[in-house]
Amino acid sequence: MKFEELTEYFDKLEKVSSRLTMIDILTELLKKISPDEIAKTIYISQGVLAPPFMNLKLGIADKIIEDAIANSINIPKQQIEQIYRKTGDLGLAAKQILEERSKLQTINKNEYSILDIYKIMIKISSTSGKGSKDIKIKLFSNLISSSTPREVKYIIRYALGQLRLGFGDYTILEALSVVSTGNRQFKLELEHAYNICSDLGYVGEILYKKGINAIKNMQVTLFKPIRPALAEREVTFHQIIERMKGKCAVEQKYDGFRCQIHKKNNIVKIFSRNLDETTHMFPDIVKEVINSINENEIIFEGEAIAFNEVTQEFLPFQETIQRKRVYNIIDKIKEVPLHLFAFDLMYLNGVTYLNVEYEKRREILEKILKNSKLISPSKRIITGSENELETFFEESIENGLEGIVAKNLKSNYTAGARKFTWIKMKRSYKGELSDSLDLVIIGYFLGKGSRAEFKFGGLLCAVYNKKNDMFETISKIGTGFNEKEMIKFQSLLDRIKLKNKPVRVDSVIVPDFWVEPKYVITVRADEITKSPTHTCGKKDNIGYALRFPRLVSSEEKIIRNDKNAEDATTTEEIIEMFKQQKLSKISE
Ligand code: AMP
Repeated sequence: MKFEELTEYFDKLEKVSSRLTMIDILTELLKKISPDEIAKTIYISQGVLAPPFMNLKLGIADKIIEDAIANSINIPKQQIEQIYRKTGDLGLAAKQILEERSKLQTINKNEYSILDIYKIMIKISSTSGKGSKDIKIKLFSNLISSSTPREVKYIIRYALGQLRLGFGDYTILEALSVVSTGNRQFKLELEHAYNICSDLGYVGEILYKKGINAIKNMQVTLFKPIRPALAEREVTFHQIIERMKGKCAVEQKYDGFRCQIHKKNNIVKIFSRNLDETTHMFPDIVKEVINSINENEIIFEGEAIAFNEVTQEFLPFQETIQRKRVYNIIDKIKEVPLHLFAFDLMYLNGVTYLNVEYEKRREILEKILKNSKLISPSKRIITGSENELETFFEESIENGLEGIVAKNLKSNYTAGARKFTWIKMKRSYKGELSDSLDLVIIGYFLGKGSRAEFKFGGLLCAVYNKKNDMFETISKIGTGFNEKEMIKFQSLLDRIKLKNKPVRVDSVIVPDFWVEPKYVITVRADEITKSPTHTCGKKDNIGYALRFPRLVSSEEKIIRNDKNAEDATTTEEIIEMFKQQKLSKISE
């Protein structure tokens, strides 16, 4: 398909305001895409070059693009900046300039295909080192001077990482199901395939080239991360035992970095909770995996946390996070030694363990880790007694940990899903909800009075409703920020400002600025209340809201970089927490 035709669809998608229409348009588009184009078309539509674990990032600097526009149309940079400031969108600014220009002269167009554009973008993004800036500008100017104004608008937005067509992974999976089978029947199979490889482009390609049976039979692949299993929550020991129907495993809950470790002979890669490759952060763990694990092929999972091996003390998250760096990692290994507490096994020597029960997975994992020092199985007990559970929980808190995760002894590994097979329970603070919430920022307000000089007045936040793939508002957060945080928020959010409400956002409140649902923050609150002003879990126009919400942050960790918008707390969880809160009030 020609790239120009793809941008026609992008124009249509940009204008729709209903998710169902969006799926219809997406389906019409994907029907016309060939098997060789499907993966790249999916990546482009998601606004990425590749899935996160490939570490192939877009994000070409504004300045390079401004130079390229100036070069290719022979126009002073100041003029571009002026129009850019007015529109707030460099893609749109370039389109306007080009349209004016093409009234005066005909421009030679190259009729690029989707694959041509993808190739050029890979080339531009991967150019590095001395002189790379000039090469990037040259490649980009050539691209601009041989594309139509509409193509240029989308090429620039794509290059800046600002395509924002407004649909998520599940919308694409739904459209793929309709394309391949005429209905949504195979959405679950496609979702499962996606959950075990985390690569939507790859799922699309297998579907188009090999058909739905290949999707159904898809296996775990080394070095393609599995989307992590997530835990539900409960607030009383009684409820945990009840949910687990008796005996369960109760593991310590470590507050560090989730690590999914893939090993094939002497090659080891580590992936984070949100599927970025983080191998570079853990040379000590990589070494220990190679030296102490005697299996050719393995995928297992654990939490890496700063740990003093001498005193056997856990260190707080503020210490652990210092390992999040690109340079001088070797020095940091000495300063902040980590220990990996392994808690699951997903794959071993050609065999997938996702559908094997927890107790068996754990037994094999323990044997495999026998010779490791830096890696050990998470500490746990097996119990059906509320009292024993309580004692283990209190002990974990005393040791400086976050809480516990209870696990169903017979359960599968639920890739990409939050199920009651894992139940977490964290330390509770008096007068507060027992757990913090992860909310997506969907808009922000301007400040009044003394805050006006920062122009930042607060956030509009939402939870994720997985059932209809929508973000529903739950809270405004206007207090608890210091000045540095306000400045940081404003500069982060300015870059993802949108003119209109994003399609997947459901909100009664209209903020001063909408933003792309992208950043997740952690929030604590006293209570969940019912409210007509928020759309979370709305029934008869009454939704749920937070009482006394406040941001939990430290300056270096203002945004939860390890979570995507879809990883935020869900509407279902809020409804569940509301019920539990009522129950605990009754039992008090
Ligand atoms: P939360 O981020 O609060 O939803 O809690 C879930 C996270 O706890 C997981 O993503 C893991 O990174 C972490 N975690 C720590 N210890 C364990 C454990 N023993 N089992 C499972 N997850 C754990």
